[in-house]
Amino acid sequence: MNQDQSKIPQATAKRLPLYYRFLQNLHASGKQRVSSQELSEAVKVDSATIRRDFSYFGALGKKGYGYNVNYLLSFFRKTLDQDELTKVALIGVGNLGTAFLNYNFTKNNNTQIVIAFDINKRKVGMKIGGVPIYHLDQLESELPDDVPVAILTVPATAAQGITDRLVEKGIKGILNFTPARLNVPDKIRIHHIDLSVELQALAYFLKHYSNED
Ligand code: ATP
Repeated sequence: MNQDQSKIPQATAKRLPLYYRFLQNLHASGKQRVSSQELSEAVKVDSATIRRDFSYFGALGKKGYGYNVNYLLSFFRKTLDQDELTKVALIGVGNLGTAFLNYNFTKNNNTQIVIAFDINKRKVGMKIGGVPIYHLDQLESELPDDVPVAILTVPATAAQGITDRLVEKGIKGILNFTPARLNVPDKIRIHHIDLSVELQALAYFLKHYSNED
């Protein structure tokens, strides 16, 4: 991460990959500039927020011109460490874990699952999507030191124990797909994605806050 990163508010930082992907598409189609209005419609973030976000990047849009696509792209590339591969470990090669291994993430950004762990003997020793699967007993010996991120797709009951071992091994961030709330030291970053809660919330909003009501 470059030094300017520390000045960017977290909410803005979370929107960076969204902006980055859209600007890559614009660039690929040969566009040189983009207005905050166009961006707003594409990424569904209001244009005032976009203008504020972009001011943190030192990108000041000009009236009637908009933003320079190349400038923004090079900024995002630096800020998101797009030139540097972030290696990821996946724990739990069930339905969800298998889907992630097959999908992997290199098409959109430079993160890549390089190693997976499971306890099921039928899975250990296999490769899925080119990623080798080890037994969880081998976590300490096989997880390389240059893997800072882990994805957890194990049953909730196993999540905390595995998390403790990952933290002990020096992992920095965990993308937690289990419903378990994980306890970790402050310096470890957890992003929690509970797909069933998200779906329930979406269904609730559609029922109670639909525009058509
Ligand atoms: P999902 O669709 O959530 O991936 P699933 O129904 O395929 O799940 P789960 O029972 O949720 O299966 O288990 C997910 C994977 O985690 C399985 O491959 C299972 O072998 C593995 N697993 C279970 N317990 C552990 C553990 N303690 N450590 C590592 N992997 C585990």
